[in-house]
Amino acid sequence: MNRYVYDFTEGGREMADLLGGKGANLAEMTRMGLPVPPGFTVTTLACRAFLAHGAEPEELGREVARHLTALEQAAGRQLGQPDDPLLLSVRSGARFSMPGMMETILDIGLNDDSVLGLAKVSGHERFAWDSYRRLVQMFGSTVMGVDGALFEEALGRLKEDRGAADDLRLDAHDLAGLVETYKAVIRRETGADFPQDPQEQLRRAIRAVFSSWNGERARLYRRREHIADDLGTAVNVQTMVFGNLGSDSGSGVAFTRDPATGRPGLYGDYLANAQGEDVVAGIRNTVTLDELEELDPLSYTRLRDYLRILENHYRDLCDIEFTIERGKLWMLQTRVGKRTAEAAFAIASELVDEDLITADEALARVSGEGLARLMFPRFDTASVGAPIAHGIPASPGAAVGAAVFDSAEAVRRAAAGEKVILVRQETTPDDLPGMVAAQAVLTSRGGKTSHAAVVARGMGKVCVCGAEELTVDTGARRFTANGTTVTEGTVISVDGTAGAVYPGAAPLIDSVVMRYFETGGQAPGGNSQTVLGAVHRLMGQADTVRRLGVRANADTPEDAARARRFGAEGIGLCRTEHMFLGERRRLVEAMILARTDAERDKALAALLPLQRQDFVGILQAMDGLPVTIRLLDPPLHEFLPDRTELAVRIASAEAHGGTPDAHDAELMTAVNRMHEENPMLGLRGVRLGLVVPGLTAMQVRAIAEAVVERKRAGGDPRAEIMVPLIDTVQELRIVRTEVEQVLTEVSEAAGIPVECPVGTMIELPRAALTAGRIAQEAQFFSFGTNDLTQTTWGFSRDDVEAAFFSAYLEKGIFTVSPFETIDREGVGRLVEIAVAEGRAARPDLKIGVCGEHGGDPASVHFFHDAGLDYVSCSPFRVPVARLEAGRAALAGTEGSDSR
Ligand code: PEP
Ligand code: MG
Repeated sequence: MNRYVYDFTEGGREMADLLGGKGANLAEMTRMGLPVPPGFTVTTLACRAFLAHGAEPEELGREVARHLTALEQAAGRQLGQPDDPLLLSVRSGARFSMPGMMETILDIGLNDDSVLGLAKVSGHERFAWDSYRRLVQMFGSTVMGVDGALFEEALGRLKEDRGAADDLRLDAHDLAGLVETYKAVIRRETGADFPQDPQEQLRRAIRAVFSSWNGERARLYRRREHIADDLGTAVNVQTMVFGNLGSDSGSGVAFTRDPATGRPGLYGDYLANAQGEDVVAGIRNTVTLDELEELDPLSYTRLRDYLRILENHYRDLCDIEFTIERGKLWMLQTRVGKRTAEAAFAIASELVDEDLITADEALARVSGEGLARLMFPRFDTASVGAPIAHGIPASPGAAVGAAVFDSAEAVRRAAAGEKVILVRQETTPDDLPGMVAAQAVLTSRGGKTSHAAVVARGMGKVCVCGAEELTVDTGARRFTANGTTVTEGTVISVDGTAGAVYPGAAPLIDSVVMRYFETGGQAPGGNSQTVLGAVHRLMGQADTVRRLGVRANADTPEDAARARRFGAEGIGLCRTEHMFLGERRRLVEAMILARTDAERDKALAALLPLQRQDFVGILQAMDGLPVTIRLLDPPLHEFLPDRTELAVRIASAEAHGGTPDAHDAELMTAVNRMHEENPMLGLRGVRLGLVVPGLTAMQVRAIAEAVVERKRAGGDPRAEIMVPLIDTVQELRIVRTEVEQVLTEVSEAAGIPVECPVGTMIELPRAALTAGRIAQEAQFFSFGTNDLTQTTWGFSRDDVEAAFFSAYLEKGIFTVSPFETIDREGVGRLVEIAVAEGRAARPDLKIGVCGEHGGDPASVHFFHDAGLDYVSCSPFRVPVARLEAGRAALAGTEGSDSR
């Protein structure tokens, strides 16, 4: 039979799923013998049952009654007893902390009679009436649904009447009057009375907490924090203790270490003569715990001892809430405390030094996301104002610069020494020079795998994309967002970690961790407890335990060199498309426009030496490590001019009575010929090489000759050739024959062996489903999870995130974009099938992933589980992937999940 209620003496920390975090920890502290006010927890199971059926499970009422009776017997008084009432607090407590997102109701048990009893036994008439008016107010708004502002207004009017500057000036008589006013408000607004029956108060308060799980605030918070919607909350019912009974009472919060920096030593705030919520609300200034030591040395010493016991028990930073009631210290809550990324690293390393945890456990307690936060400059949060727009946080870090609206202007201003932010509706490969020149890229369209996002991440450049509140008017060189207009040259600040845009220049804090990686990750001076010492130690631990290799997606020698400094063990994806842009575009145009084989061969021959030089540079930067070079992938029309621009040019020449430029006319014919409604599903990938004669051969020759050149220079080039967008083994078979022929030719001509493994991307469902056959021709697989996600879900990777993902997230269809974190159930299933069938056909098949998921923590854990050999991600993500690959290898170590 289901059981819905547990006394604090019956539970423990391991029961967090059932009792919620707060309930489980209250039980744990009770079990440890710490002074916790007695109480019981109504389980998440009860909440889920309530939410599913719209009513409490039948047994719940009986169970609550039984536990209440036990509580009353132990206390020697009853809930709401008129002469000496037992009072209760009712608080939410979900599995994962959702601070302030759900309801709390205090002082349950007070009514018109028991308020008098409380006044008498406490000797504080004002305190009793103040508690009662708080209950009526809280119950009225949270349980009975009255607009909280009505109570605030009534309180404001009373203060005005009495000329009282703050609540403390209102006396018992005033507050008794306020209770009556509040009751009248409730009656007027709901047609019902504030319930005098303490049992009814308790029942309805529990129900209100259940319901608050689905409140708007809570749902929003869960979506942001990726907390599942179906967990439900537990409800903790606890005996009230009071910190507002005079100067020998008070409330506070404390941490076992500084949660901002990780430095050891007690850290916290205390407020004398106050309840916990007053400390949090910040109505009066708190004092430090050092001052508590002077005010109440005995309580301070106890507190210090309890904190030490807790930290040794939990073997981690703990935070607590406590109350001192007339000199008696009570522990109201504890949990493993939240901390900054810096503190997380520092504390994990300190606890290893203190022999409280192992190095593996320390690794489990930090995260790739935390490391990413430490790697980039950030804004000083205290000094940034309100954002003018929000978007998708596509590439982390913080940047300040003048807004510019096209690539050429970005390049021009940057060359003159100005810092700029490139603002576009969306970017295309043509914007690359501007992106390189800019501090950050801001777009109003596109998601995490849009061109802007992928390229910016690759360059470690700040990027916010899909900022739909932005209306970008490139022609007028300005954008507007929520009523603010930003013209070209105006300074703005872009936060790529939070996805926010601010007006003006927000102050920046530089990253020492980035400098550490940029300089090759050498052991820092000083001890292991500085953030750098901790990062160094934990990166070392991750590298020791990880099974997954980590490579980088890099397509220039500079990126390759940086990736290597960041710890990449090769290149998993060298995209070659940028090698066809810029100055070389006219050669590509010539290749496409060629009317004869000879014309096309001439264009290809001109491209060959340029490409060879690109490959030489990259192979040199990655000497001795594998470099997977992908044959040309995007649709060819991307290398031709924009169709509309061209049409405008031609039309305007005609309108002025002239004849359009002959080259333009020729281009227009080609552009029209090559136009596709769905270019991502059109002539791209392997299909290009199969229909444009000589294209594959030219690329392979450039690679092979680069290998020869590096070998002649005494290097150890390890090029691998990768064919994109394979659907069927026949495609690969044809290309592979051609590749091997060229390799043999170059090798024989040079008299130097050129052996390049030939493999394929698995980025279409058909390829994944026929991986066994494809593996007969492929020496390696690399999952292109961007395209695989696009084609498995039928989601255009360029459009959907901005178009409707917020609605999908809102409806709980998924909790995170499948372009960000791999969809284990669908796309992941295809990956698993392909791994199994590929390896069955070719046991030594090397398998990696080079889609954006390769640098996403949760996805790295999946790729580890799926048995891949390596992940490949943008250079700046390499440390994150190394760390997460290490954490993934710690299966079963507490805290090693990637959430
Ligand atoms: C992919 O599809 O995951 C991939 C790596 O290729 P691209 O992003 O270049 O299409
Ligand atoms: Mg792809």
